[in-house]
This record gives sequence, structure tokens and C-alpha cells, in this order.
Amino acid sequence: MARKIVIVGGGAGGMGAAGGVKAADPKAEVIVYTGFDDVAYSPCGIPYVHGREIENFEKLFLASKQAYVDAGIDVHYNTDVTSVDVKRKVVQVAGEGEVEWDALVLATGFNYADPGVPGGDLGGLYYVKNIREAMEWDKVLDTVKSAVVVQATPLGVEMVTALGHRGIETHLVDPSPWPMSEVADPDIMAPVEESWRELGVITHFNTTLKAFVGDGQLAAVQTSDGEIKADLAVVCTHKEPNTALGVAAGLKTGSTGGIIVDERMATSGPGVFAAGDCTEIPHGLSGVPLQGLTGSHAYAQGKTAGINAGGGQRTYSAVYVPWGTAAGKWIIGGASFGETTATALGIPYVVGTAQGISRARYYPGVKPVKVKLLAQPGSLRLLGAQMVGGEGIKERADFLAMAVKFGFTLHDLARMENVYSPAIGALNEPIVVAAQSGLDAVSKN
Ligand SMILES: Cc1cc2nc3c(=O)[nH]c(=O)nc-3n(C[C@H](O)[C@H](O)[C@H](O)COP(=O)(O)OP(=O)(O)OC[C@H]3O[C@@H](n4cnc5c(N)ncnc54)[C@H](O)[C@@H]3O)c2cc1C
Repeated sequence: MARKIVIVGGGAGGMGAAGGVKAADPKAEVIVYTGFDDVAYSPCGIPYVHGREIENFEKLFLASKQAYVDAGIDVHYNTDVTSVDVKRKVVQVAGEGEVEWDALVLATGFNYADPGVPGGDLGGLYYVKNIREAMEWDKVLDTVKSAVVVQATPLGVEMVTALGHRGIETHLVDPSPWPMSEVADPDIMAPVEESWRELGVITHFNTTLKAFVGDGQLAAVQTSDGEIKADLAVVCTHKEPNTALGVAAGLKTGSTGGIIVDERMATSGPGVFAAGDCTEIPHGLSGVPLQGLTGSHAYAQGKTAGINAGGGQRTYSAVYVPWGTAAGKWIIGGASFGETTATALGIPYVVGTAQGISRARYYPGVKPVKVKLLAQPGSLRLLGAQMVGGEGIKERADFLAMAVKFGFTLHDLARMENVYSPAIGALNEPIVVAAQSGLDAVSKN
């Protein structure tokens, strides 16, 4: 009899798992439950449609519903799984009753943290996630004069930029001294803040949210810095793991609240795997568990969970977290830690920094690229990197995450070979220059 795999979640984790099962066992019966109307769209593109960089939401759909039917993946849309019984190997499904499984993958994703202030039930509070809701909110944006983005998380940074591009009076309220303060360093974010000012964005850092104010509908946002009149608040609080089903089923969770998984993405429940934002994964250098990584992490974890659930063998290792996003007129990114995180974790480091360029200095469209490298004192092994620039940040972030993973040192990076071709790269690669500046600083001490 065909193996029956149930997957809860139709996001990057769940759909990665569905593909993984079919890769391992094409004959397996695969059922996916999602609370949404759609799967296989990119939520990551939503801020860019709001900002008018992408023409419409249809462009964000990656595959048709029929493509899943053809692939033998049975997706049940708008269908909630209400409980999991690990011992009896069944899930309870709203409107369907009990459904048996041979293996189960939980990919239930994240919820935005409750802002925890009065007025959370008012109209005009937008939590960016579901594409159908985003389509409706996009029409609302046409009528909005003033908006407040709550918290400069990665999504908050994208939404501030999008609303600024859209010509809406945009305020950002964040309790920290600079945007994305938990991952990004202040020197990396300074040019972003400057470009927001050019866009007309009004930032309120070191400012606490006190209440959403209005009579049924949002009229203002109260903060420790005074009241801001607003027709819309985009709530971009931290992503919390959505583990309600897993916790009720008795699965073990860790210090972040995410479901604990081993290298096969197996949970503490026999036959139960988990993937994506509902899990926690250790950082490769520090071992500190991380939760709420990215869609690309969720997809790769889902693939691993699905392959193992389908009887195959794949492992997922600790993460070195390449990251990046557009922010104001810049692109920011990095790998592993920056100075702020290293300091918070008590990890000693030395720094090498370079202000370089993305192409030959005479080639049209050349953009600045700032690279900062952190290395372990003594061994000079790379610990992390942060960057801000006009182009080429993503590729460097991906490479530098591998460099951290495989233990490259500042010596290795200072002698790295690089492409020089006027239209795509400068003679002096900024990574090489940053590594050399780190070596120079160390040799002076
Ligand atoms: C606006 C936005 C921008 C983003 N930008 C980026 C980006 O630039 N780069 C990047 O890599 N990632 C990005 N992401 C991805 C994101 O941050 C997450 O990492 C990713 O969505 C996690 O995928 P997931 O499958 O774990 O969870 P989710 O995408 O949250 O999916 C969870 C799924 O579980 C379903 N579900 C939950 N509970 C139940 C239940 N009880 N019964 C049935 N179904 C259930 C939901 O309906 C949903 O289908 C973005 C996300 C958003 C929303």
C-alpha cells in the first residue's frame, strides 16, 4: 500500500516538504492542509507590489493549482487541522474528521507577535501575510494619507520603503536606537536611514508603542514620543513560531518556543517531522538556537523533512544565515553575526572594513559597496560579515556564509582570487580590501 504523508502548512516549508516526499517516493499519497486559499505564491514579493516596483499580485504566483494536481499532491485549501494524535497517527481536520498518516510534517509557520497595546481590534491594522488579504489592503493603500509601520524588523524595513515609494506619509515606530537592531549594525543601517529621510519617511526610534487609537477604525497611534495621526498601521512585530498544534500534541519545544528537530527535521514525536518558521535551528558557530529564519531556509528544511518522511535520507545542518534585503535606496545584507550580535553573545572579534565599488570606477552605474568582516582574534577565522551597497550584496552574503561555514580566515580572504571585468566587478574586490584592512589593524596592535 502507498505510504500516506500528511503535511500541515502550504507555505515554503509545507510545499518544500510535499516536493521532498514525491522525490523520495513518487507513489506516496501526499495531502497538504492549508488555512489559506492559495499555495505556491511568494509572500516575499508583497511589499514590492505595495511599493509599485512589481506590477501586480498575479506575478507572485509561482505555480497553478492544477500543477499540484498533476504532481499528485492533494492540497486542501481553507482547511484547518485542529489536532494531532501522535500515538494513534491521526490528525483531526475541520470538515473532514479524522485522517490517518504514516508520517506527518508540521510546517505551520509563524504568527506576528501581539503588539500588546490597547486598540489591537481596531480596523486599519494590517498584518502582511496572506496574498488575498494583501490584494484588498492594496486598494486601501490608495486611500491612505498617513501610515505608521510598527517595528523595523526586516518586513518593517521593506514596508517603510514600499509605503515611502508609494507616496504615503510614512512613520516608523521602533523601541530600538536603529532599524533591524537585533541583526544589523548601526553603521550598516545609517545610509538606509538617510535614504528614508530623502523619501520623506519620519522615523521614531527609541520610541515605544502605547496604543492604537480610534472609534472602531484607527485614527492615530499613541507612542512614548506623542500621538501620530494615521489611517493605517502596518504591524511588523517579530515572527513567533506557530506551534499550537505541535505543543498540544506534546512535541518538545526549545528556548525560542520553536519545535525542536534533529538533523533529519524529525521532532520528538515518532513519525512527526517539522520545518520552517515553527521550528528552531542552531546557529553553526555559536550553537544558539534561531527561530523565524527565512523562506529559503523554510523551503530547504521542508525538502529535508519531506524526503525523510517519504522514506529517503537527507540531513539539514546548522545555519550560517546569509541574509539581505532592499532598504531605502540601498541593499543591506550579511552572514552569520555582525558586531551587535557578537557583542550581545560575548564573542570577541576583530574587524576589517572597506568602502569599495561594484564595477570599474569608470563604468556607468558603478555603486558603492561597504564590506565589514568580523574575525576571531588569534586564529582570524571569519565569524561574520555585514554589508551595505548598491548591488552585488546578495552574492557576497551567500559566499561569505560559506566562508564562515568552512572556516576561512582573513588571510584566505585577503588573497582570494576575484573577477575583474569593468561592467560587473572592480579590480579591487571589497571583500579582499576589508580582509586586508583587518590584517593591517591586527598587525598594528
Ligand atoms: C510579507 C512577507 C515577506 C517575506 N519576505 C521574505 C524574503 O524576502 N525572503 C525570504 O526568504 N522569506 C521571506 N518571507 C518568508 C517568511 O518570513 C517565512 O520565513 C516563511 O513564510 C516561512 O514559511 P513556512 O512555510 O514556515 O510558514 P508560513 O509561510 O507562515 O506558512 C504557514 C502555513 O501553515 C498553514 N497553517 C498553520 N496552521 C494551520 C492549521 N492548524 N491547519 C492548516 N493549515 C495551517 C497556513 O495556512 C500556511 O499555509 C516573507 C514573508 C512574508 C509574509
